[in-house]
Amino acid sequence: RMVEDDHPLEDYQSGIPRWCSGCGDNAVLAAVQRLCRDENLRPEKLAFVSGIGCASRFPHYMRTYGFHGIHGRALPIAEGVKMARPDLHVFVNTGDGDCCSIGAAHWLHAIRYNMNMTVVLHDNHVYGLTKKQVSPTSPKGLRSNTTPHGSYLDAMNPLTVTLGVTNVSFVAQAVDWIPEAVYAVIRAAYHHKGFSFVRIIQRCPEFLPTMWEPWLRDPEKTLLLEHEDGIAYSAGLQRIYKNRQAHDPSDIHRAREIASSIDPVPVGILYRDESVPCYEDVREAGKPRPIEMVKSGLEAELDKFT
Ligand code: SF4
Repeated sequence: RMVEDDHPLEDYQSGIPRWCSGCGDNAVLAAVQRLCRDENLRPEKLAFVSGIGCASRFPHYMRTYGFHGIHGRALPIAEGVKMARPDLHVFVNTGDGDCCSIGAAHWLHAIRYNMNMTVVLHDNHVYGLTKKQVSPTSPKGLRSNTTPHGSYLDAMNPLTVTLGVTNVSFVAQAVDWIPEAVYAVIRAAYHHKGFSFVRIIQRCPEFLPTMWEPWLRDPEKTLLLEHEDGIAYSAGLQRIYKNRQAHDPSDIHRAREIASSIDPVPVGILYRDESVPCYEDVREAGKPRPIEMVKSGLEAELDKFT
């Protein structure tokens, strides 16, 4: 078969996922493989990069280039891949421990660099791979192996953190139990030129089996964001989730307000700014003009002798 032919789903599938049944990672994998098929992406033009955690097995299940990296370092590895091979579309799969704890410094600077890649934060609010330790996004009071009396701190909100960093250009959120929304936001992220950050709120049936049950039972606890030029939801989804709101993704102040909400949990594109330049384009454009610093009297005097 010629590579230009339409690719069936099987062209992107590799192996049988080892995640627990009902794990949110399965929903993300299904959405990403469907995206690849629908966009007829060439497998040899894709690279999936991960760190360490349950979700970090993602590259193993994609028949594309992949790099299963080290803990917290998915983003710098992905940036290196992008610098060396700008023709590849780079996806990053990272978890709440991998991204928001050990990799937090890389996360902030990757937002600021705004390289063209799609980043999926698989946020299950716990370290699952190492059998239930508290993570930065764990709810306060969570009993875990590291916090047997309950965790002391409020959860970090990855959306508001991302929205607070210079050069942020795309932030979206979905929940694993609405597959249509997972697909829609990842697709919109793929089409965004720049660092697109998608947080998927995921269930970990193994260690936090009931955490999101109230949201599953009550559709009023989900807020579908509607965008004029953005993702569209099917009529079926709109019938179930009647709690909807028109949202302008260019309004960063409103995006930050919406991002703070957990009840209802917002689903859709919170923020998008296509005008933020990508680091690779800025570098291509050449050296920046150095700024002229006003010299102190002493520096001016010293210049006479150099
Ligand atoms: Fe998924 Fe939790 Fe199982 Fe890990 S432990 S594979 S996050 S359900």
